[in-house]
Amino acid sequence: MTSAADPSGTISIDTFVEGFHEKLTRQAVLSFASCVHCGLCTDSCHYYLATGDPAMAPAHKVDQVRKLFKAEVDWLGRLAPWWVGGRSVTSESQLRELQDVVFGSCTACRRCTFSCPFGVDTGLLIRLARGLLTAQGIAPAGVLAVSKDQWETGNQMAISQQDYLETLEWLQDELRGETGDPEASIPIDKPNADVVFVVNPREIKYAPLSLLAAAKIFHAAGENWTMPSVGWDNTNFGLFSGDDALGAHMGKLAYDQVIRLGGRKMVVSECGHGFRATKWEAPNWAGMDLPFPIESFLETMVEYVNTGRIALDPSRNPKPVTYHDPCNLARSGGITEEPRFLLKHACLDFREMTPNRQENFCCSGGGGAMSMSEYTQRRLKVARVKADQITATGATAVATACHNCVDGLTDLIKHYKLKVPVRNVCEYVGDALVVERPHVAGLDMMPASVRGRTVLVVDDDPDTVVYLTALLEDHGLRTVRARNGSEGLQAARQERPDAITLDIAMPGRSGIDVFTRLRSNRELASIPVIIVTGAIEFRELVYHRNVPPPDGYVEKPVRPELLLMSVRKVLELRHRAAAPPAGDGR
Ligand code: SF4
Ligand code: SF4
Repeated sequence: MTSAADPSGTISIDTFVEGFHEKLTRQAVLSFASCVHCGLCTDSCHYYLATGDPAMAPAHKVDQVRKLFKAEVDWLGRLAPWWVGGRSVTSESQLRELQDVVFGSCTACRRCTFSCPFGVDTGLLIRLARGLLTAQGIAPAGVLAVSKDQWETGNQMAISQQDYLETLEWLQDELRGETGDPEASIPIDKPNADVVFVVNPREIKYAPLSLLAAAKIFHAAGENWTMPSVGWDNTNFGLFSGDDALGAHMGKLAYDQVIRLGGRKMVVSECGHGFRATKWEAPNWAGMDLPFPIESFLETMVEYVNTGRIALDPSRNPKPVTYHDPCNLARSGGITEEPRFLLKHACLDFREMTPNRQENFCCSGGGGAMSMSEYTQRRLKVARVKADQITATGATAVATACHNCVDGLTDLIKHYKLKVPVRNVCEYVGDALVVERPHVAGLDMMPASVRGRTVLVVDDDPDTVVYLTALLEDHGLRTVRARNGSEGLQAARQERPDAITLDIAMPGRSGIDVFTRLRSNRELASIPVIIVTGAIEFRELVYHRNVPPPDGYVEKPVRPELLLMSVRKVLELRHRAAAPPAGDGR
């Protein structure tokens, strides 16, 4: 079984080849042996469509792995490898070339499989090769960093249990404010709940609006639900890295919580690969026969609408909205109609994207690509296919049911200047909820505990500075301005602000450099930093982990409710951390 990368850092060609033999399942052998090179799958790949490069054709990419099969396994290839194009691996440089193919040129979206008359499963073979490379420590830096954090902390963003629980406690206060119900709660470790809800760590760290929307929906439905205090991460980098042991570890961690709590079912929040890994793959990797069902939150919401537990008013979302099918939900997870049902009930003008459902194109950020900054430019180039799809709908907003797709789509929308916001389906449903007291979208005043706190705004664009400072001051905060990175660092040292909003693309000292310096300075490292940017490069700060990642990020053009909520979150959590514990007598 493949496990984490060899900590000694030694690369062994023999181990790589032996591992190949061990990983050959019946499905893999069938897919290796069946390709007749008819080329029918070529036009289905967004890498090929966007570049026209024959090296990006699915069959050609898989042939880089198939050579090994031909040389090592195929009976004719073992006798005469040159006859069938067999070539075994003999050097480290060949492994590094393979990394570029299996990590950098394929998101394992499986679209080509649906065009193949023999059902050759390209995603399966690409993942097999990824797993062998990962075991040798040959993988993009972000994949290795995130995998290490999942192994060591049980979640892909290395969020401590304390930060996780404090964030949920803070979100519970937000929920009470939004619903007007002082009893509204986000229960932790509640025994015998009907729903045990597991989430994507992005919701805890960077996208609280989506988790808040889910909590509002559970509250409106009167659900008996809970979140586990550990084992709450539904994502699984084992799917992306090909490390079955990590896949099993993450699955088991989450399954054990449902068993420990006596939950009736597990509900997976909107995450494409998280749903696929948790429901379909990890039970096999972990060798577990689960005593409870697993469903997507999309299915849960559909049931609430159908049984009258929640009512939706589509006039709350009047703008034309289209839907992007996440590959792991639609092609590999069987979830296509639920999001459409929900969006048609929650929005006035739903517009279908073409092609769609199982034939939809990848957002270009799938298969872990968002964590692979080595390939960012290639990712954005091939994203043109998705950009054209979105443009053709005429919609002014995009919905999707995956946090990874939200990031992938946001990057391509910036790159191709489409100016359409992207949100999860549950956020549209949350906005359309018919409740006695409609929510105020987070635009209320900062709570008294943080009013008057200082936020340093670092941005070279004068209009953005004016906008951000006016927004923050209008909501009870004090601001300090800096027009570039050097001024920002100086102001941070002098003012010791309570939080910083930091642009990335600035002349002179970049935001990346400023952020790294802040985090590396013992006296400034604990100041929360929210990246506010139109640049895509900030993702390396999120995934590479050379220094602790930012406390929030907000894409430009800025959604005011998201910025205010992100600022409120870091200020309140900082305030709570500094406050003396209740009952200590002070
Ligand atoms: S799995 Fe997706 S990205 Fe990979 S070759 Fe097939 S269509 Fe292209
Ligand atoms: S469609 Fe199937 S058989 Fe034809 S080239 Fe593609 S993978 Fe091979």
